[in-house]
Amino acid sequence: MIRVSVVGAQGRMGGSVVNAVEAANDMETVKRIGEGDDISSITPDNTDVAVEFTVPTSSLGNVLKLVAQGVNVVVGTTGWTDEKLDQVKAALANAPRKDQAVFIAPNFAISAVLADKFAAEAAKYFTSAEVIELHHPDKVDAPSGTAIHTAQAISEARKKAGCAPMPDGTQGEAASRGQVVDGVHVHAVRLQGLNAHEEVLLGNTGEQLTIRADSFDRASFMPGVLLAVRNIATGAHPGLTVGLDAFLDL
Ligand code: NAP
Repeated sequence: MIRVSVVGAQGRMGGSVVNAVEAANDMETVKRIGEGDDISSITPDNTDVAVEFTVPTSSLGNVLKLVAQGVNVVVGTTGWTDEKLDQVKAALANAPRKDQAVFIAPNFAISAVLADKFAAEAAKYFTSAEVIELHHPDKVDAPSGTAIHTAQAISEARKKAGCAPMPDGTQGEAASRGQVVDGVHVHAVRLQGLNAHEEVLLGNTGEQLTIRADSFDRASFMPGVLLAVRNIATGAHPGLTVGLDAFLDL
């Protein structure tokens, strides 16, 4: 049995992780940590993998504490920057155990990971690409970490293929054209009734390809979380790994 502790267990995602772990026959929940609880109770003696779903302002601190305590961590909280990732790498270099692992996924939904992959593959065949992400109104960040990741993947693929910068209109109010991420325009919609959705629009003269991923329910993230927990528990992925594609045969 893989022993799993959940940090942020009273949250929407953390609560779903507790239920998914309880429903799996190869893992069990050991500790359920909420805001104000003592995270130092999670140790390698009681936990194989800690799953962290809290808030961007708490996540880095939680991960650094868990790494220092010798615990492997799977992280779903968003808001990671290169600077924060560097701090995690530095912590892992000084970790109590050499095989310790931290895994961070901007998105655990298989549909979203595949949409990213397909968008990056398609990007070099089109003159223009824009990303529209649509979420429930309570989402704290905008644009979503997933949309930023998609834009970066499109941009990287286009640079690698030697594509020219996108020639699209810059007229009008800059705010109406979305946030520009590595040269790709990203638009955020917040609307009652939505959960988590993303569209990538790719355009050429006279044609368009739309790639769309829809997460209708938090349940869509759970197979990805369990896949990450199982992979990290093997001890075969020491250090920092980012992105669920690392564990998918793409
Ligand atoms: P949520 O319902 O607000 O849950 C966050 C929980 O974390 C709350 O219960 C909060 O407690 C708790 N918390 C805050 N600071 C903490 C700390 N230091 N230690 C322990 N618990 C702490 O939010 P959510 O919808 O579950 O989302 C959580 C995160 O996951 C967000 O960053 C969201 O964007 C991200 N997310 C990622 C994916 C993915 O696939 N990677 C998918 C969906 C969501 P209080 O309410 O008492 O403060």
